[in-house]
Amino acid sequence: MAITKPKGTADVYGNHAALWRYIENTAHEIAATFGAQEMRTPTFEYAELFRKSVGETTDIVQKEMYNFTDQGGREYVLKPEGTAGAVRAYLENRLHDLAMPAKFYYITRLFRAERPQKGRLRQHTQFGAEYFGSYEPTADAELINLAYIFLSKLGVDDLTLRINSIGDAECRQRYNQALLTFLREKEESLCGLCRDRMEKNPMRVLDCKNEDCKAQIANAPLPLDYLSDDACDHFNRLQKNLEILAIPFVVDKSIVRGLDYYTRTVFEFTSQDLGSQATVCGGGRYNDLIAKNGGAPAGAVGFGMGIERLLIILENQGKLPVVDDSIELFIGNIGEGGAEKALQIANYLRKHGISAITDLAGRNIKAQMKFANKIGAKLAIIIGDGELESGKVMVKSMASGKEHELELDSIPNYFGLH
Ligand code: ATP
Ligand code: MG
Repeated sequence: MAITKPKGTADVYGNHAALWRYIENTAHEIAATFGAQEMRTPTFEYAELFRKSVGETTDIVQKEMYNFTDQGGREYVLKPEGTAGAVRAYLENRLHDLAMPAKFYYITRLFRAERPQKGRLRQHTQFGAEYFGSYEPTADAELINLAYIFLSKLGVDDLTLRINSIGDAECRQRYNQALLTFLREKEESLCGLCRDRMEKNPMRVLDCKNEDCKAQIANAPLPLDYLSDDACDHFNRLQKNLEILAIPFVVDKSIVRGLDYYTRTVFEFTSQDLGSQATVCGGGRYNDLIAKNGGAPAGAVGFGMGIERLLIILENQGKLPVVDDSIELFIGNIGEGGAEKALQIANYLRKHGISAITDLAGRNIKAQMKFANKIGAKLAIIIGDGELESGKVMVKSMASGKEHELELDSIPNYFGLH
């Protein structure tokens, strides 16, 4: 039996790859307008990095990491998310010496051992951004704006920005106490994983995907009601900034996000066009992560956006851009002289950025024209002895079938070249 691709992965080629390029180019353009620099980190990192950053009791670390051990017995992970590697690179390369906040973005493949379904893959791609070195809510708002402008530029409709604050260490202590008291009452009815996580990290129970657990925690205390004055002020100022930027949002007290490093602001962009995997972009502030990884304490905020989910939304909304990758000219030939000339002209045009295709299969004229049609060439010419002698050639528009005569030597001119 033929070998297939691994479950939960995709092959991307042709027009679809052109679509990806368009989305990636848009990401590069928008990030540049915010003064964000691209960051490319390794595809694999030491396993310890994610255990420490993402958290031992998260879905990612407990269930979804692709681990492997090399010949030297070191343990690695194919990176499941972008922030931990970016923070590691920031510290390792002493990027805290840059002007603050240091703004970075990336487009990267990520790997999670999940149950594959629509919008949930084992290899997916995120456009992410991280702002290092600011505690100010203006940074949260600007980062959200980067995602918002990117999505708007692509013409995505109907997204909802949901924001929440889960407070910081100080608020969390009081909140965890209240949540734990609530959860202990329900313990019998929670799933095994929740029972296991509850004492270590009660907030993780709030993003359990099990329907029974969801029902049990419907009336659980929520972090927003336990904020310190400082955290509350931060959240209010974030909202003020979003209003100034004219970014519509709703406060959704139930959002906690699935990674342990978040403090204060958390947010999601959700779409009704995604079915059960409704979140296209998730992010938040992580004020303790840099210090936890050995750096001087510094505020930071970031987001990750799933490009495959974004493509599903664009497709469902009929917003997929049409990418024009059609061939300008097919240069057919009869005989050796014609073939040589075809090669020369094609070579010249390509060097000057015009797409030109010749026959590489020794076809007869009829088959060559059929081929020109199949590859979607806009124009076609055939060069034979007659054309070489007269120095003239018929140019055929493949769409209309109309032909007109052109000097062979003036083909570059015809395409605006000299
Ligand atoms: P979910 O709750 O859907 O599992 P998550 O909380 O695990 O999402 P993040 O880790 O915050 O998601 O990732 C940010 C974004 O990356 C998600 O909103 C989604 O668009 C995308 N994403 C995450 N996991 C996958 C996956 N397995 N397949 C495709 N896209 C994904
Ligand atoms: Mg997940």
